Amino acid sequence: MNPLTERAEKALSQHDLCDHCLGRLFARVSTGLTNDVRGISVRMALNVELALEDKDPYLHRSSCYVCEDIFDTVPRFAQAAAEALSKVEFNNFLVGTRVDPLISEREEQMWSIVGQEMTEPIKAELNQEIGKALEKLIAKPVEFKAPDVVALVDTRFAHVEIDVAPLFVYGRYLKYSREIPQTYWPCRTCKGKGCQKCNGTGKQYQTSVQEIIAGPIMRAAEGEEHFMHGMGREDIDARMLGTGRPFVIEIRDPKKRLIDLKALEEEVNASGKDRVGVIGLRFSTREEVREIKLASPDKAYRVVVAHHGKVNKERVIEVFHTIDRTCISQQTPSRVQHRRADLDRQKTIIMAELESFDQETMTIFLRTQSGTYVKEFVHGDNGRTKPSLSELFATPLEVLALDVVEINDNTEV
Ligand SMILES: [Zn+2]
Ligand SMILES: [Zn+2]
Repeated sequence: MNPLTERAEKALSQHDLCDHCLGRLFARVSTGLTNDVRGISVRMALNVELALEDKDPYLHRSSCYVCEDIFDTVPRFAQAAAEALSKVEFNNFLVGTRVDPLISEREEQMWSIVGQEMTEPIKAELNQEIGKALEKLIAKPVEFKAPDVVALVDTRFAHVEIDVAPLFVYGRYLKYSREIPQTYWPCRTCKGKGCQKCNGTGKQYQTSVQEIIAGPIMRAAEGEEHFMHGMGREDIDARMLGTGRPFVIEIRDPKKRLIDLKALEEEVNASGKDRVGVIGLRFSTREEVREIKLASPDKAYRVVVAHHGKVNKERVIEVFHTIDRTCISQQTPSRVQHRRADLDRQKTIIMAELESFDQETMTIFLRTQSGTYVKEFVHGDNGRTKPSLSELFATPLEVLALDVVEINDNTEV
C-alpha cells in the first residue's frame, strides 16, 4: 500500500470521516486543491486498492466523527454572516470561526492516530469555505492582511459577531489660529467629566484641530470615536502654514466607509474658516499611521523676535552667515520639564535667514532638524540651550510669534 492510502486507512478504520475531515489530514500534501477534493481522491485510491484485495470500501455512511457534517451548514453560516454584515459598509472582509471545543478535541484525537505533520485545523477550512460562499453571496472579496471587517461566526449557534476596522483618513492641516491645540484636551480639573471650570464641556480648550477635522468625518462615517495621529505637533500659539502638517484621522467603529472625502474637505474648510484648513484628504491605513509617527522631517519656521534695539542688522546678517548645519545642545525646556524627562539633545540648525528688521523687532526664517525647540534656540532658556541667538547677540531676545511654514516630509503636495 502506498503511504498515503495507508494513512487514510489508519484513520478510516477507526472512525467514519467526511471528505473534508479526511482531506484535511492530507492538507499539506498538495496545494491548489480543496480539502474535500483531497478527501474524495484519497478515499477513492484507498478503495481501489481494497477492491483489488477483495475488501470492503470505506464509504461515508453515518455522521462524520470529527465535525458531525458541519460543512453541510456552510451556506447557512454564510447567510448569517451576510445578514450581520449588511449593517455596515465595507470593501472587503475576512471570516473567523469559533468551533465547538469537542470538535477540536476529536480532531486532535485523529491527529494522534495518523500524525499531525500534513494536517490543517478545521477552523482554517471553515474560514475558507464560509469566506468563499460569502464572496459569492455579497460580491465582495476576502482580504487577509487588512480587512475592513471581520465576521466571527460561532458555528455552534450560527451566531455572527462583526468587528469593524477603524477608518483611516490622511490629509495635511493648516492652523491659522494661535489659540487652538492640535488634539482634543480634556479639562485639567475634571479630566473630561465636565465641571464648573470648563462650563460642563469637559474640555480645556473649546476646540482643536482634531475636532474641527475629525468631527465631520466621524459624522459621515457614523463612527463612535476619533483619534488624530499627527506628524509631530506645533505649540498652541504657533500657526501651521505652508503646505500643512501630515496627519491621519482614525475613526473607530465606522458604519459607513464609502464616504465622499472631497465633499468633507470642503465642509471642514468652510467650518474651519480662519482657524483650520485641510488639504488632500484621502483614505489611509494603520501602516501609514506608523510611518507618520516615525517620521522626523526637517522643518522651517518664521519667527518674529523682539530685540529691543540692542542689536544691529549687519551683525545679525553676519551671525546668520555662520549658521550652516550648526549643532546646538538643548536641555529639556523649562516649560515642558514637568512632563518630559530632563535630557540633553543635540540638534542641528540647518540655516537662518533675516527676512526683515526694524528698530524693535526682526523676522527670521529658520530651517531646523526635527525635534528642535525653536523658541529656546532664540531666547536660550536661561542657558539650557547652547548656543542660542540670545547668546550669539549677547542680549535678551523675546519670541513674539512663531509659525511653522514647512514640514519637509518629502511628499508631493
Ligand atoms: Zn467532517
Ligand atoms: Zn472640567
